[in-house]
Amino acid sequence: MAKRLIYVAHDNLNLAKGALASASPSTDEIVLIESARMLNSARWHRQRLFFMLSAARHFAAELTRLGYKVHYLKASDTASGILKLKHDFAEVIAAEPSSFRLTKSLSSIGVKFIANDFFMTSRIEFRNWAESQKSLKMENFYRWQRARLDVLMVGAEPEGGRWNFDEENRLAPPKEPHPWPDYPRFERDQIDNEVIEEIANLNLVGSLSEQTWGTTRQAALQQLDFFLSNSFQDFGPYEDAMTSRSWSLYHSLLSPYLNIGLLTADEVVDRALDTFRKKKIPIASCEGFIRQIIGWREYINGIYWFFGEDYREHNQLNSKRRLLPLFEDASATKMNCVSTIVKEIENRAWVHHIPRLMVLSNLAALADVRPDEFLAWMRRIFIDAADWVMVPNVIGMSMHADGGQMSTKPYVAGGAYISRMSNYCKGCAYDPKTRSADDSCPFTTLYWHYLDRNKDLFKKNHRMFQQYSGLRKLKDLDETIARGDNVIDGLLRGEI
Ligand code: SF4
Repeated sequence: MAKRLIYVAHDNLNLAKGALASASPSTDEIVLIESARMLNSARWHRQRLFFMLSAARHFAAELTRLGYKVHYLKASDTASGILKLKHDFAEVIAAEPSSFRLTKSLSSIGVKFIANDFFMTSRIEFRNWAESQKSLKMENFYRWQRARLDVLMVGAEPEGGRWNFDEENRLAPPKEPHPWPDYPRFERDQIDNEVIEEIANLNLVGSLSEQTWGTTRQAALQQLDFFLSNSFQDFGPYEDAMTSRSWSLYHSLLSPYLNIGLLTADEVVDRALDTFRKKKIPIASCEGFIRQIIGWREYINGIYWFFGEDYREHNQLNSKRRLLPLFEDASATKMNCVSTIVKEIENRAWVHHIPRLMVLSNLAALADVRPDEFLAWMRRIFIDAADWVMVPNVIGMSMHADGGQMSTKPYVAGGAYISRMSNYCKGCAYDPKTRSADDSCPFTTLYWHYLDRNKDLFKKNHRMFQQYSGLRKLKDLDETIARGDNVIDGLLRGEI
C-alpha cells in the first residue's frame, strides 16, 4: 500500500503534535521544505533565519534517526516542493498551517489538513467564545481559559483569591546594580555551522555573534529548566521593567521555541504549575507567566483566525509615514531608550514585550508610521515573529489600525511611562517631563500630537476621557503641535 507523505512546516517541529502524532516510519514518509520564497522574501534578521533553518534541519535529522525516510527539499516555494513528491504517495497530510497564505497554497494542491494542536485553544473553540461575547477583552478570554483548562483554580474561584496580580507585577527596575540571571548560551554544532555558512551571503540584517538561541528540543528544554530554576520566582514583579543593565531581566525566552513547536504550551504550563507547587513560587509570578501562555498567546492566535485574512490591511487612522530609519539603525536616533533597544535587537532578534509595545510600537503609532510598513519590519526582525503573532499585535493592539475591533483604546504613552519603568531617561539627550521645548522627549511631544490629530475619532471614547480633558488644558498646545510636526520630520530624516 502506498505510504502517506507528511509535510512538516518549520513551525511544527514536534513529534507529539500535528500530523506526526499519528505517524509511523512504516506507513509515512516526511517532507520538509526550505523555500526560496521564504528565504528571499525579506531582509530577515540573521538570528531568525539561522534559528528557523537550523532547527528544521536538526528536526529532520532526528526524524531520520527514528527511522523515517525524510525528504529535505529546497524548492522555489512550499507547494512546488510538495508537488515534486506527491504522485508517489496515497495522500499528503499536514497540520493546519499557521498562516492564511500557507493554508491557501497547500489547499490548492490537495494537502489534507488535520487539526492544529500546537495551541491549547482550537480555532473553533475561540470562534465560539468570541461569538458569545459583547467585546473581545483579553481579560474575559483569560478567565474563561483558566476555568475551562482548570489552571490555578480552586473549584470555581481563582487561586489566591484574584484573577490577576498586575498591581504586584509593575515594579520599575531596581536603581542599584542587581543580580539579573545570566542566560545559557548554546554551542554551535555542525548543522548550525553549515546554516551559518549558507546564509552568509544573503541580504540580511543583525548580528549572529550572540549564541542565545539553541536549535534543538534539548536546547529548548534546557532553556525551560533554566527559567523555572532561576527566573520564575521573580518573573512577575519585574515583567514590565526595562533596563540597560539586563537585556533579558527575568523573562523566560521561551516564545521562539514555543512558536516553532520545540516546546508546546501544554507542557510549559504543566512544568510551571509543578514548579509553582513544589518550590513555592509566589503566585504573582506564576499567574503572570501563566497569563502569557494560556491568555495572551492563545488569544492572539485566536484573534488572527477570527478576524480573517484581510485584517492585516487595516489602516483606520490613515497613517502615512514610511518606516523610520531608527528601526533599522540604532545610530539614527539620539533617543536613549530606542537606540538601546534597537542595539539589543541587532544582537539577538529579541526584546521583551514592553520594549516592543511601549517603546517601538508606541513610537510607530505616535509618529504616524503606516501599519503595513511597521508590521513587515516586526515580522522580519524578531526571532519569534510568526504571522499569527504579529498581525493582531501590530494591527489591533499597538497601532490601533483596526478601528478598535480588538482593543477599545490605543496603547500609546508619553515619556513618563518609559521614565517610570526603565533607567533609559537618565542618559538621554531629551527630557521626558516637557513637551514643547527643543529638548522635550519625542514620546511626550508626540503623545499630545497623536491625541490632537486623532481627536475626531477618539474624543467620544469614554476610556479616553481623561486624556482629552488633559489635552484641553494644555497651555502650550500650539507649540507642542508645531514641535510634533518637526519631530516627525526629524525622525524620518534620522536626526532626532
Ligand atoms: Fe526615551 Fe524620552 Fe526617556 Fe529619552 S527622555 S529615554 S526619548 S523616554
